[in-house]
Amino acid sequence: MAADSIGMINFEDLSFSYDNGVSVLSGLTGNWERGMIHGLIGPSGCGKSTLLYLLAGLLTPQAGTLSVDGETPPPGRRKTAVILQNHGLFPWKSAWENLALGLKIRKEKPAHIQKKVSSMLDELGLKGLDDAFPGELSGGERQRLAIGRALVLEPDLLLLDEPFSALDAMTREKLQDSLWEMKHRRSTGESLTLVHVTHSIEEAVFLSDRVHIMNQKGEIRSFENHSPGPGFRIAGEYFQKCVALRQAFDAYSGGGR
Ligand code: ADP
Repeated sequence: MAADSIGMINFEDLSFSYDNGVSVLSGLTGNWERGMIHGLIGPSGCGKSTLLYLLAGLLTPQAGTLSVDGETPPPGRRKTAVILQNHGLFPWKSAWENLALGLKIRKEKPAHIQKKVSSMLDELGLKGLDDAFPGELSGGERQRLAIGRALVLEPDLLLLDEPFSALDAMTREKLQDSLWEMKHRRSTGESLTLVHVTHSIEEAVFLSDRVHIMNQKGEIRSFENHSPGPGFRIAGEYFQKCVALRQAFDAYSGGGR
């Protein structure tokens, strides 16, 4: 990206404190490219989720500027989707209804909703589970459904706060593969930018095109990564990148996730 071009996400001198007056972010600056997967990693409590909520327009900075696609993000920005750790599904609605809800709220035509929801269930590998309620699905299937519910609305920005942290290691890897594939299937014309917060060095390396390390002072340092997706986990380059990121993390953040 040219030094003077504005990325999908741009923030300058961004500062934020909660009502208790404790400063979480102070003078933060970044310019994050469109169409990429950005991984945000840092020690617990350094302000990763706070930054994500600012990007989502759920919090407002006290100082500095923040733009998403060239504009200050309003709360409920139509093209931003957010997936939190607890997946946020409606437990009383079936898988099909959870996927259809956002489209119904947008008053899409029933035939269009039917088509989009069926093809999303297919893409998620959840075909046949249309009528299942979230409580009847496995943790991995629930998180898959949450990703589907976000993507069915065709966002240009998908924000994920530690989406896979509650899953077992094998399920987590499968979901990482699916998320990478679903993102890249949609990326012609740089249509989707993704930001995910993670505690895992391996997850950051596997998923991300850029890794942003945040430290306890609320500062950020960014690294190019580039992941070629499924299959990368058994490549020598993957291990080298994990080691390099771990070293950068320890040197910059003072260690501790
Ligand atoms: P991270 O995601 O990196 O673990 P957070 O952004 O959740 O960090 O939190 C950053 C800091 O802000 C922590 O010290 C946390 O205790 C504090 N914090 C988070 N949410 C609130 C809140 N609603 N009110 C006051 N302090 C908060």
